[in-house]
Amino acid sequence: MKRARPASNAPAADAVVALRGAMIAWRGDPFVVGAKRALAHDPDAIVAMAQGRIVAAGPAAAVRRTLPPRTPIERLPRDSLMLPGFVDCHVHYPQLAVTGSHGSALLDWLTRYTFPAEAAFGDAPLAGRVARDYLDENLRQGITTASVFCTVHAASVDALMREAAKRSLRLIAGKVLMDRHAPRALRDTARRGYDESKALIARWHGRGRLGYAITPRFAATSSPAQLEAAGALWREHRGCWVQSHVSENYAEIAWVKKLYPRARDYVDVYARYGLLGRRAIYGHGIHLAEREWRALAASGTAIAHCPTSNLFLGSGLFRWERAKKPGRPVHVGMATDVGGGTTLSFLRTLGEAYKVAQLGGWSMPPAHAFWLATQGGARALDLDDRIGNLVPGAEADLVVLDLKSTPFIAQRMARARDVHDALFVQMTLGDDRAIRQTWIAGRLAHDRDRATPP
Ligand SMILES: [Zn+2]
Repeated sequence: MKRARPASNAPAADAVVALRGAMIAWRGDPFVVGAKRALAHDPDAIVAMAQGRIVAAGPAAAVRRTLPPRTPIERLPRDSLMLPGFVDCHVHYPQLAVTGSHGSALLDWLTRYTFPAEAAFGDAPLAGRVARDYLDENLRQGITTASVFCTVHAASVDALMREAAKRSLRLIAGKVLMDRHAPRALRDTARRGYDESKALIARWHGRGRLGYAITPRFAATSSPAQLEAAGALWREHRGCWVQSHVSENYAEIAWVKKLYPRARDYVDVYARYGLLGRRAIYGHGIHLAEREWRALAASGTAIAHCPTSNLFLGSGLFRWERAKKPGRPVHVGMATDVGGGTTLSFLRTLGEAYKVAQLGGWSMPPAHAFWLATQGGARALDLDDRIGNLVPGAEADLVVLDLKSTPFIAQRMARARDVHDALFVQMTLGDDRAIRQTWIAGRLAHDRDRATPP
């Protein structure tokens, strides 16, 4: 006999994973509506997930009534806080091994550390090993989405995409385009860079949750012909992303000015080749002029703020009052920029972002910091309709923080007045020990308290 179909299209009880504990979610952009209105905090909530998505999230009593009868509900340990997974808007996975190398500013850093490290990535097994280490570390840090620079070798993209697919991650990555001012082994040509990127787009873009980013390293290592080809490729594949660097360091800016004398400024170099727009994201943007900020805002182009990298390489201090100027705010996401950045800990990255903002005269509220790390980053990448919030329909990528992960933090937390204060303690004192669990597409992908990964 045929069974009657259920009245709703709700998933069966055994297909739902439900977590019960405290949670935060976003009701708006804190830069627009303010910290208090933007942040929703529920001390007793349920987040229910099925088929990779959040099906219900909110006060436990209300959510419980919407779940199929006998849905198992897992109660999280005390002092847990659920929040959306972190979004790293700019990072170089092949530079893992040179993180924390001494004594350089940007251009010397590239020659001394970056290029030798990247030269090895033509070797597919090595690229595969580093890709695994990198993605495992991301999960330990609660990073659930990243926009990643690979190397000039197509194999470096294949390795990372393959590992990301195995973990069902939402991830963006691309092969670096670089046809000048680099060692021969790391150079492609305008033609080869275009052809290889096109093949990688066909292979990976839109497969599962993977996306491709057309990735000229920066204007100085690409000839005008290569930037032209990158712009053409983007016009042919509008769903793809563009990622690069802009205005990180004074010597770099002067060099780009010399190489592109007809451009009005650094941002105009990219504009001339059709590389500004929604889904384009540029690392740093430290020393931009007002005209450049306006061009970014008008085109919807995003900036990835990389605080630990900017401090470590002595590049300069990001100017929030310019980035978020009322009337023409620019999309900004947070980023680790490893290996110029010194950590994949997103909590530590937020702590350093706070200090950078302080030096610019702004005491960044914790709600702004955590919004930038989650939904703000998702918006910078044009993914905020899918990730970055704990709401029904969103992809179920989330982090469970342990708000008392060390004795030092526990004694400070005893004085925390509210959720804003608790979040500030985490971003100022916390690190990977505070990441209790990381969930990817509704599945537990990292559990701090289990010896072996699930
Ligand atoms: Zn970078």
